[in-house]
Amino acid sequence: MPAAQSWGQTMLADIEKTDYIAEAIIDAFGERCPDFAEGCACCEAWKQYDRLRTKDAVQTLIRTKRALEKLNWSLDRALSTQVEERE
Ligand SMILES: [Zn+2]
Repeated sequence: MPAAQSWGQTMLADIEKTDYIAEAIIDAFGERCPDFAEGCACCEAWKQYDRLRTKDAVQTLIRTKRALEKLNWSLDRALSTQVEERE
C-alpha cells in the first residue's frame, strides 16, 4: 500500500527532525536543567522543544486516526463485497 508506506515515512521524518532539534538544543544550550527556571535560555529552549514535540504527537495522532478511518472504510467495503457474493 503506497499510502501506508508514505505515512510511515512521514512519521520517521518527523522523528528524525525532532531528534535533530534536540541535538541542536543540546549543542547550543546543553542538557535540560533539573528544574525549570523562568528567563533561563536553556529552559526556554527546552520549553519550545516540548511544545514542538506535543504538536508533532498531536499531528501523528490525527494522521493515525485518518489512516484507521481509511482502513475501516476499506474493511467495510471488503466485508460488504463478501456478503454480496454469498447472496
Ligand atoms: Zn535552565
